[in-house]
Amino acid sequence: MKNLALVDLEMAEIIQKEKNRQESHLELIASENFVSLAVLEADGSVLTNKYAEGYPGKRYYGGCEFVDEAETLAKERVKALFNVKFANVQPHSGSTANMGAYRAIIQPKDKVMGMALDQGGHLTHGHPLNFSGVDYDFYPYFVTKETEMIDYDDLAKKALEIKPTLIVAGASAYPRILDFKRFREIADSVGAMLMVDMAHIAGLVAAGLHPNPCDYADIVTSTTHKTLRGPRGGIILTNNEEIAKKVDKIVFPGIQGGPLMHIIAAKGVAFKEALSPQFNEYQNQVVWNAKAFADEFIKLGYHVISGGTDNHLLLLDVLSKTGLTGKKAENLLDSVNITCNKNTIPYDTQKPFITSGIRLGTPAMTTRGLNESDFRLVARLIDKVLSNPDNEEVKLTVKNEVIKLTQKYPLPY
Ligand SMILES: *Cc1c(COP(=O)(O)O)cnc(C)c1O
Repeated sequence: MKNLALVDLEMAEIIQKEKNRQESHLELIASENFVSLAVLEADGSVLTNKYAEGYPGKRYYGGCEFVDEAETLAKERVKALFNVKFANVQPHSGSTANMGAYRAIIQPKDKVMGMALDQGGHLTHGHPLNFSGVDYDFYPYFVTKETEMIDYDDLAKKALEIKPTLIVAGASAYPRILDFKRFREIADSVGAMLMVDMAHIAGLVAAGLHPNPCDYADIVTSTTHKTLRGPRGGIILTNNEEIAKKVDKIVFPGIQGGPLMHIIAAKGVAFKEALSPQFNEYQNQVVWNAKAFADEFIKLGYHVISGGTDNHLLLLDVLSKTGLTGKKAENLLDSVNITCNKNTIPYDTQKPFITSGIRLGTPAMTTRGLNESDFRLVARLIDKVLSNPDNEEVKLTVKNEVIKLTQKYPLPY
């Protein structure tokens, strides 16, 4: 960042401060990760200079021969990764991918069923302030109170009443395997289409640790920057040629203008990394770490939502054990260099901005190298702080332990 510092010291210093923060904190936000140096280089490459409206071989600008190669390579790789026939790698984000998918297969005002937003569903699955909630008529489905897992029987019953055009599976805070086969059966029973938003679990799917939604859904969307560990962005996948054609028209010119070619190249690099055996090892470790993390919290007497986890994240009910709200817990942990987010738990008694829980994920720190015993230690450190919220001495001790751990597993940048 030599040049940046010369041109704009102010911005260079802000970026340096953020790098130091990333280096010295335990990153437990379940949707974040650390990209490789290779991805970062493609992300920061000269491809950012290029306009390439259109698709490979059919662009609205000259000089696209090399960005065409980059996009074609990224597409071929992502198709191999998820064993799927058609891919669009241009969406700027997961939200844009979802907008593209909806517009390709349903009409405004159509009825759609998605997971309740306060039980794990994403903003783009019908929040009233989001385009999805404005454009479509969303109906939620829920987890059971007893198991805190998706109530498929109730979903099947509600689907019969509602008769949706589309059912959306996928979530931002659901720790269990999604039963795509069951979703498909329910969708078929009412003549609905099935869309899977695998934004959180795409890396696990790529590694074969979660069923592949491309085998069941009419359309699949994802981010590329969560467990998949690529640059910030989105993708849309399908095995249906008609849908694929519509998706391409909707993404460009329907929603976006010029694609971010540097990001598409970086996506291609991430897909290559995800096709490697090391990536499978990494994802295995992500899941083992999450299981050890959840297990340690259970041993410490916490209620872990649904009794554990099958994937890369867990939801911790902090209120019932410590009397602290999710908001207070998030702030306390922030003060000892542990970064996470407050999160509603199923049937939460607190408001969405307060919450009873926190969401914890293992992808980012697994990339840094932490193993199961490290995550068990982190669970005990979290418990120590949450059990002694007003004890400055405890906080200082924990913060020092956290910094030691981050120094043991440095960033590669
Ligand atoms: C993160 C996420 C998205 C949106 O991704 P952005 O890139 O932040 O727009 C969409 N769906 C789900 C389920 C997500 O978790």
